[in-house]
Amino acid sequence: MAKPNPLPRSGPAGEACIFCRIVRGEIPAQMVGHNPDLAAFRDTNPQAPTHILVIPKKHVASLDDAMDSGLLGQLLAFAAAIARQEKISKSGYRTVINTGTNGGQSVAHLHIHVLGGRAMTWPPG
Ligand code: 5GP
Ligand code: ZN
Repeated sequence: MAKPNPLPRSGPAGEACIFCRIVRGEIPAQMVGHNPDLAAFRDTNPQAPTHILVIPKKHVASLDDAMDSGLLGQLLAFAAAIARQEKISKSGYRTVINTGTNGGQSVAHLHIHVLGGRAMTWPPG
């Protein structure tokens, strides 16, 4: 029997997923960059002067569901490129991937937070 997965799977996929809807242009977003596989847009509830979400256009629920290491590499490289574009790479920035309940993931579509424009603290909350 399959082991129950501890991560929440209640988030909608495809049709109803908020980030899939942004990719399809059904929900407006402040896009800062995209390519055929990836998109980057501003977070509507920014936690820093610069707060961007970098996502795969294809629906992947979380890092735990991400089986394509090539796509993960592209996602990370794209986050760094967006940080340079937003001129936060020299001062520094933080990249965050929240995964599942304890990770604090609220949208079940894989995303990297790119946060900059202020000094970050450690440990995270
Ligand atoms: P998580 O908590 O899953 O790591 O991050 C989800 C992020 O998505 C949150 O920072 C939240 O503010 C952002 N968010 C939620 N809904 C929307 C939306 O409709 N548009 C945009 N641009 N960001 C959203
Ligand atoms: Zn999605």
